[in-house]
Amino acid sequence: MTAETTETTETTETECDADANPPVRRVSDWDADRLADLADEHETPLYVQDLDRTRENCERLLAAFPDADVRYAVKAHTGRAVLEAVREAGLDAECASAGEVDRALAAGFGGDRLHYTAVNPPDRDLDYVVDVAEREPDLTVTAGAVDTLDRLAERGYDGRLCLRVNPGVGAGHHAKVTTGSAPKFGVPYDRAARVAREAAERFDVVGVHAHAGSGIDPDQLDSHRELVARMGNLARDLTDPAADPLDLEYVDVGGGFGVPYREDAEPLDLPAVAEATREAVGDLAGLALAIEPGRYVVADAGVLLTRVNTVKPTPGGTVVGVDAGMTDLLRPAMYDAYHPIRNLGGADGEPDPADRGTASVAVAGPICETGDSFCTDRALAEPARGDLLAIGVAGAYGYEMANQYNSRPRPAEVALADGEARVVRRRERLADLTTVEREAAGAPETAETEVDR
Ligand SMILES: *Cc1c(COP(=O)(O)O)cnc(C)c1O
Repeated sequence: MTAETTETTETTETECDADANPPVRRVSDWDADRLADLADEHETPLYVQDLDRTRENCERLLAAFPDADVRYAVKAHTGRAVLEAVREAGLDAECASAGEVDRALAAGFGGDRLHYTAVNPPDRDLDYVVDVAEREPDLTVTAGAVDTLDRLAERGYDGRLCLRVNPGVGAGHHAKVTTGSAPKFGVPYDRAARVAREAAERFDVVGVHAHAGSGIDPDQLDSHRELVARMGNLARDLTDPAADPLDLEYVDVGGGFGVPYREDAEPLDLPAVAEATREAVGDLAGLALAIEPGRYVVADAGVLLTRVNTVKPTPGGTVVGVDAGMTDLLRPAMYDAYHPIRNLGGADGEPDPADRGTASVAVAGPICETGDSFCTDRALAEPARGDLLAIGVAGAYGYEMANQYNSRPRPAEVALADGEARVVRRRERLADLTTVEREAAGAPETAETEVDR
């Protein structure tokens, strides 16, 4: 993405890219036979994450924001294979905890490509990160409260610091992911300049940061623009040569780039978002623009495969029971999130899904919770026991939010790259559920239950 690229080649590249790198991969675009083979081989529930598609998403971001620093918000998917693919694609890592910093380091991100954003950070996390910063002095810490700055200074930290600002505007697909205006995040906008100048007496203040929330979609561009404009103004204020300027390097306007979960939703027009962003931020006079996409990088590169085990007609409609639940994919239960679902068929003696009628069904998991439901009133090719369902756009906040509630082992994950599939997270066993208890009791390494189940 060099600036030297001539106009002619640029046009050609864009045209080719449009075919090779479409703005979204729908659940209908996945190769059904391939997914069925993977489910047969590795059983269900099974996450499948396509690293090639993950790379394409990185490439589209870099192409749309050619002169921005693009930082992958790793909390969307911290799998080692994903982190390595993203690093190779050229993105930095934005981490929200000591654990994420640890994973990013292990995946080969050097300090100069590591950003740690502390939100009410536990002491343990700060101790760890300050320790890492001694070895990796190019690491940047982003903090959003004066208390956090004090706690960093108390630990002897005087390195690179970015101030997280609460811009007073937010965006998001659900109240629980709208962060831009939530008081939890960032120093209030009208105090930000003063706090940044004071911080510069103790730290190397390199940037200002705001994150509007997750799920910026075409209808919410206005609040994105508003946030970006405010951040541009703040940066100009702080670097005003006439008023004790700070030596800032960048303005980080966060992530939240939406992906179309619904089959009929349009993908984000990334070049248009990039243009709106550049326009809104205004003249940065040498400062870099930084963005922190998480979901956009991984969401449509992942599916969750699950097997139908029960089909139950009820007066209120047909309930399709599957072997994945809210413990495997929490978003529908937590955010009322919509995930597209495709019936890939495979039930003994049943025709190909394309040759079946359509039924309006609810799809529910095995957890003893009413909220353990992926959808209601969803039109699917008439499901039968033994069918395989693909739950689409599951690569972001999917495995990442998986948990062991109801003593359910977490699913396995397979990564696809260059036509090859490899298991990157083995399926948890029943014995994994009790590891920490057995260790606490000083008990033998193996569980009383059958280890391999
Ligand atoms: C979660 C988060 C992001 C990424 O959000 P997405 O919606 O996944 O793009 C970026 N920056 C910060 C600080 C975050 O907390």
